[in-house]
Amino acid sequence: PQAPQSDLEIARAARLAPMPEIAAKLGIPEAALIPFGRDKAKVDPGALAPRGREGRLILVTAITPTAAGEGKTTTTVGLGDGLARIGKRTAICIREASLGPNFGMKGGAAGGGRAQVVPMEAMNLHFTGDFHAVTAAHNLLAAMVDNHIYWGNTPAIDPRRVTWRRVLDVNDRALREIVVGLGGVANGYAHEAGFDITAASEVMACLCLATDLADLEARLGRIVVGYGPDRAPVTCAEVGAAGAMTVLLKDALLPNLVQTLEGTPAFVHGGPFANIAHGCNTLIATRTALGLADYVVTEAGFGADLGAEKFFDIKCRIGGLKPAAAVIVATIRALKSAGGVAKAELSAPAPEALRRGCANLGRHIANTKGFGVPVVVAINAFSADRPEEIAQIQAFAAEQGVEAIVARHWAEGGAGAEDLARKVVALAEAGAAFAPLYPADLGLFEKIDTIARRIYHAGEVMADKSVRAQLHAWEAAGYRDLPVCMAKTPYSFSSDPGLAGAPQGHTLPIREVRLSAGAGFVVAICGEIMTMPGLPRHPAAKAIGLDAEGRIAGLF
Ligand code: ADP
Ligand code: MG
Repeated sequence: PQAPQSDLEIARAARLAPMPEIAAKLGIPEAALIPFGRDKAKVDPGALAPRGREGRLILVTAITPTAAGEGKTTTTVGLGDGLARIGKRTAICIREASLGPNFGMKGGAAGGGRAQVVPMEAMNLHFTGDFHAVTAAHNLLAAMVDNHIYWGNTPAIDPRRVTWRRVLDVNDRALREIVVGLGGVANGYAHEAGFDITAASEVMACLCLATDLADLEARLGRIVVGYGPDRAPVTCAEVGAAGAMTVLLKDALLPNLVQTLEGTPAFVHGGPFANIAHGCNTLIATRTALGLADYVVTEAGFGADLGAEKFFDIKCRIGGLKPAAAVIVATIRALKSAGGVAKAELSAPAPEALRRGCANLGRHIANTKGFGVPVVVAINAFSADRPEEIAQIQAFAAEQGVEAIVARHWAEGGAGAEDLARKVVALAEAGAAFAPLYPADLGLFEKIDTIARRIYHAGEVMADKSVRAQLHAWEAAGYRDLPVCMAKTPYSFSSDPGLAGAPQGHTLPIREVRLSAGAGFVVAICGEIMTMPGLPRHPAAKAIGLDAEGRIAGLF
């Protein structure tokens, strides 16, 4: 037997089709295709003729994941290829990669095995520069806020109440809390500041939820950068930065088009964090894809408790999207892990643990169905899986009234996901009745409470008086109708990553709330959330370099 190939080796062996050929599959005319090197392009949605019909939107989400990831991106790509193979005009929509994690923990954002988006090196590195543009726009605002205070411009910003930080696309723990403005009067005044990673920038979230350039500028303008001496919010528009930021982001707002290993068109655009932001690709890419393809497969970060909920309640609500079906990715190892099996024992049979772990799957199924979206479970096949384990999950899913289909796209490419693709088509054709979980005019705390009880099965939400007072202050300031963005550990339905399975009756503590008025949501932080990651003891960067032929080595 052949030695297994790495993701990078598989990706590098691929013969890429010229971009005009990929664009032609979606009927994208030359006038709308802006080549970006040899095998990447940007698409100008403004140059596309309206088709008069919209494609069907398929969400790929997952059970509660382990740290390894359960294969949402891989399944998004594989399902897209599977749909293309059964004759559907298909586009894939996923997020761009952040440089920080690439050089930290091994693991890319382009899928894996025979279900990958290519060119994966480019996609995982600078790609088309969108992240750099977000970094530049974000830091321009930071500089303008400090400058606004330096010159004493109006409306006054209380220097102690600046909330706007800086960003860089790197994992660098030393930048989390810093002091700037040292060195005397000419350098301003010494004050605390700090950096987040670019994916955590509210500018990124604005880019990902904007419907067009004018809406982007309006969202950027609404960003609250701090508060005045009277505690009134001061916005980016009042600092005068929104226009220049929009200029910096003009090209970044155009969706990027690449291809899968099998030549299915893939939009890879935007990359917001899945904790303090909503964790999916740009709305503009999704809408562009829906305007061109009959099936659009997209992914939302983390498990369905976070990713799907935010996709439905934030992105679909803001964008007026109506998802036609959802695929819940499950792996046998993650279900065993949810049932209490230790990492080192995951390849041994454990029917009892698997049975317990299935409760986690069951809750994600019920939650997702609760949005009125039909569900299919994709068992992302690993070589260690046993037939009796697969049968056990299928029997469990059948009890929940859904089908669980084995998907072998990681090993076999789109051919391994044809069964899944046919089921998705059947569900989508039967129709959905999508509705968000809560109405926009529900109070902010009540929204958090609704998500905690209905999705997480928490018994109560615990929040200090100061947190409740802050929410009320924002409601009074006109932000009541915003959806909430939950920032919680992805490893449990609760805020305790150690509480596996399907816990209920737990208490959800809200440690802090943040206003992302530009993006258009209020963030509820449950537990410790890191917005500037650090590097591990042996970062992946140590193994990355160029080989003798000048090719990238060690990247996944
Ligand atoms: P997610 O999007 O859910 O975080 P990914 O699709 O990025 O997960 O997959 C995480 C990692 O697991 C990737 O490195 C991918 O190559 C690997 N992987 C996914 N599916 C399989 C599989 N069926 N067998 C082996 N490895 C897989
Ligand atoms: Mg992913």
